[in-house]
Amino acid sequence: MENEQKYHRPSWDEYFMDITKIIGERGTCDRCRGGCVITKDKRIVATGYIGSPIGTPHCDDVGHEMHTVTQENGQQSRHCIRTTHAEQNAICQAARVGVSVENGTLYTKMTPCYVCGKMIVNAGIKRVVCEQDYHGGARSKEIFKEAGIEFILLNEIMTTYADMTPEKKTLPTPTQPETVQSEKINSVSFINEQPAELKKDDEEPSQFIFENIPMN
Ligand SMILES: [Zn+2]
Ligand SMILES: [Zn+2]
Repeated sequence: MENEQKYHRPSWDEYFMDITKIIGERGTCDRCRGGCVITKDKRIVATGYIGSPIGTPHCDDVGHEMHTVTQENGQQSRHCIRTTHAEQNAICQAARVGVSVENGTLYTKMTPCYVCGKMIVNAGIKRVVCEQDYHGGARSKEIFKEAGIEFILLNEIMTTYADMTPEKKTLPTPTQPETVQSEKINSVSFINEQPAELKKDDEEPSQFIFENIPMN
């Protein structure tokens, strides 16, 4: 029996994170098919996956709704904003059926974005567990700390996307004429608002394949 490997019984965090992955398979945007599980006392009270608002077209059917975001350090990144994120959908589902998520634990694929981060704080969630880190998750981690939320990263992997620029470089000027520079909101500005019919970005997979970069 010496060669027999001891069975690894999943921890609670591994157990719920595995469920999160299955839920994410229902996602409708291939930039991140993320799933989310919110638990209380080791029981699932809400789930969500990334997708368009109910009744509106999916990225997988009509293409992404891309925005270019310029950070304060000059780095630009492109984001699909058509979808409601998995974390937001889980919180919305709880609201819809009248279940409190207060003092709960939220499991999600990547460090939540700033919008999700703020919603998590105000929903009263006290613990956030992520499978991997996200290049746009820095502010969320800061406010989790400020708000007294425990943040756990299961893997030291940073998720970035191929259509990001290094610091202080700009993306090539888009061919579409509808480039709009709107006013800055919380240090992030949106440019390149393209009409929906021009957003078939999913025909160019190299533009949005995300990369997992080990954090050393
Ligand atoms: Zn999308
Ligand atoms: Zn988010």
